[in-house]
This record gives sequence, structure tokens and C-alpha cells, in this order.
Amino acid sequence: MDYADIPTRPANRAPVNHRIDWPVGMRSCLFLSFDFDAESAWFDGDPRGWRHEVTVSHGGFGPRVGLPKILELLAGLELSATFFVPAWVAEAHTGLCEAMLRGGHEIGHHGGFHLKPSPDDMDASLAELDRGFEALSRRLGLEPVGYRAPCGENYSVFLDHLMVRGVKYSSSWRDDVFPYRHVLDGSKPGPIELPANYFFDDWMHGLIKGSGRNLVAREEVLSMWRDELEVTHEWGGITTTILHPQVSGRPSRFKILREFLEEAKELDGLWIANGAQITEHLESSPTFGDGPETA
Ligand SMILES: [Zn+2]
Repeated sequence: MDYADIPTRPANRAPVNHRIDWPVGMRSCLFLSFDFDAESAWFDGDPRGWRHEVTVSHGGFGPRVGLPKILELLAGLELSATFFVPAWVAEAHTGLCEAMLRGGHEIGHHGGFHLKPSPDDMDASLAELDRGFEALSRRLGLEPVGYRAPCGENYSVFLDHLMVRGVKYSSSWRDDVFPYRHVLDGSKPGPIELPANYFFDDWMHGLIKGSGRNLVAREEVLSMWRDELEVTHEWGGITTTILHPQVSGRPSRFKILREFLEEAKELDGLWIANGAQITEHLESSPTFGDGPETA
């Protein structure tokens, strides 16, 4: 592909629509979501990665400590979240996934072996998607309605494939603080996007290895999260977290999460919900449409 082949149009064809009617009495929404990658995040796209046992053990902290602590926290706060789970994790940690479901949480699709989808190898990427559907169905008896791409990359051609398999929403794009409906090839309406907020990717400031950055202190993270939430709330948008039990389940990071969620619960007019609940609301909302914002 050459630069001359890049279409001269916005990368995202979805119209801008910043008028969202949240449930009665609600001003904005917090989409509380976690990526339960466990060890799979450390395979690094190579099955030989499994042999690096200490490296992989970074991910093992999620299932051994982080996830149980986070489930306990959410139960205490009476909050329902979405956990995006790769096929390998559904197989290796089935009991913990069952505990999520028992706790009233949603499980979404997060790939097979946590491989980054690639437009240069569509067959392998689509096989990854199918692997995810198959494992979630066989091990947990569920058909996911939400998808978040592993390693944060996604393609509209995948959205088409996901829709055929019953997926109603995606949470991968970073280009808005309001949900929108994707426009696929042929102007076909795609799934709803619940855009992710990179500020809430705990990996970026809570883990040294693999992030290429230094740890960020609690006060800085909390200050950043508070400001994002406060202004998104003023605007009436959606705040979408990208948290990882292997990061936010670490003691000092857990303290940040607990404090943030306790404050969020006190914010008047903030609707805290999982992705399936938000999507169901938007699909039934007469003002959430395909068209641009009108007066
Ligand atoms: Zn992930």
C-alpha cells in the first residue's frame, strides 16, 4: 500500500452525534470495564512466550489476586462491570469467569490468544475471533454482545464479522467521548461504539514492564481520572475504563481504583453500568440514531 492509496476522507465515517439521552435523571455514563487478559497478555504473539515463566507471572497476578479482590470490591459497591476475556483465559480460568457471571457482571469477547488483529492476515485474525466465540460458548455457555480488540487495534471489516455473530457493541476506538454507531462499507450501519478512554488504561501508568513508562503516583492518577470524569460528566458523555486486574489489583493501584469508584458512586447523575446495559439503553433510545446532531 502506498500513501496515494489512502482515501482522502475521515478515518471514521460515523456522523458526530453529541446528544445522548441517558436514563431518566442521569447526566452521563461510566462504562466500567476490565480486560481480564491474565497470562495471555504476556505471550507477545508468540507461543514460545509461554516458556518465560517469570515474565508470564506478571499476568498470573490477575487471576491469583487482582480479580478476586476486584470482584469483592464491586460486590461491596453493588456495581456491575464488563470483563473482556480472551478464549485462552476462558479455558484456563473458567472458575473465575463463572464467578464474574455469578456476581452479575458481563463477559465480552477479547480475542483468542490475545493476538493483535492484522489487516495483513485476515484469515488468522478472523480465526482468532471464531476461537473466542467458541471458547466462551463451550466453557461458559454465553454468546457475547460486546467486543474489545486485544492490543487495542480493530478494523471495520471485523465489525461486520462480529455483527453476524451477534455482537452489538465494540469498545476499541478512541475518537470520541460519546457513543456512536459505526458506518461500514456500503454505508451499512455497524455496531455501536462505546469509545475507550486511554487515560483510564491502567497499564499506561501502573505497570513498568511492557508499558515503556514509569509508574505514576496515586495522586497523579486520581487527579487525572477525576478531571476526565468531571468534564465528561459536564459534557454528558461516556467515560470508558480499560482496567486490568493484573494492574489495578496490585495493592497500591487497588487503593486508587477503590477511591475513584467510591467517589464516582457519589456523583449525582452518573450512571455506572456495564456495556450490555448501555447498549440496550442506546438501542431503545429514539434519539440515538445514525444521523448527525440536530438542534
Ligand atoms: Zn487485553
